[in-house]
Amino acid sequence: MAQTQTARPMDGTALARRIIETSAATAAELRLRTGKAPCLATVLVGDDPASVTYVRMKRRRCESAGIVSRHVALPATSTTQDVVDAVTALSNDPDVHGILLQHPVGPHIDERAAFEAIDPAKDVDGVTMHSFAAMSFGLPGFVSCTPGGIMRLLDEYEVDLAGKHAVVVGRSAILGKPAGMLLLGRDATVTYCHSRTADLPSIVQQADVLLAAVGKPRFIAGADIKPGAVVLDAGYNDGNVGDVDFEAAAERARLITPVPGGVGPMTIAVLLEQTVAAATLQLGAAA
Ligand code: NAP
Repeated sequence: MAQTQTARPMDGTALARRIIETSAATAAELRLRTGKAPCLATVLVGDDPASVTYVRMKRRRCESAGIVSRHVALPATSTTQDVVDAVTALSNDPDVHGILLQHPVGPHIDERAAFEAIDPAKDVDGVTMHSFAAMSFGLPGFVSCTPGGIMRLLDEYEVDLAGKHAVVVGRSAILGKPAGMLLLGRDATVTYCHSRTADLPSIVQQADVLLAAVGKPRFIAGADIKPGAVVLDAGYNDGNVGDVDFEAAAERARLITPVPGGVGPMTIAVLLEQTVAAATLQLGAAA
């Protein structure tokens, strides 16, 4: 009988908890020193139930870490200009240190214009063109939270990326594309795959590091995982299922993120950490 390897799970819940604890301690220290707590403003357009839940979750986590949360709820009928105006007001408000515009914002709104109204110094969700460029050039700035969380997981498990073939399946602006840039910045050889990629399995089979960021349940077959690979599953689908067929993939991978409890918790942790960092920079400069 063929010998099967069982991958070590990458525990995002534990790492995220540690990052949030450190952020909370830094936030408390900042408050003591400056008299001001870090403040994250969330902007929600409309009342999409999943978005409402995400924003509520992010606000709660902020508050439990000593980060003040301010919420701006805009009606679904808002125009691009309405959203840009609301975000610009937050960019200009010295009491707000970070801004998170929950997406999707609705098909009638120019999402890029709305994101670009975020002052890069407050772009703690890493969604502006400025942040993407800084990420791509390896310059200081805020990273997209999920890709940033993925890199933290790789570091936590001491994954050496230099010269490794990293395959990123998915190229969204918030996830696949910036994740590939961060991997490239760490000297991985990066291949991006997307819906027009020909013969995806043959590329996945070459991955030393595989990032699945597609949004399709069990889309990546376990049999396509290269033995000994590191598998990061950012997918989150109905029924707590990732984009990778976890059980089969775990028999071949060396390290793998479970769903839930892998990549998922890292996103909020990086958001909180970057909010505290933004506040530290802004309050430090003002002191
Ligand atoms: P998205 O914007 O819908 O992008 C999906 C990507 O998958 C696109 O680039 C698309 O290619 C590609 N794709 C679709 N079908 C494919 C196929 N048959 N073969 C290869 N590629 C294909 O989704 P997203 O926002 O990046 O999210 C992806 C997943 O991550 C979702 O499950 C989402 O829930 C999850 N997610 C998790 C977190 C977290 O905090 N853990 C954060 C964000 C997202 P095209 O570009 O060619 O259309």
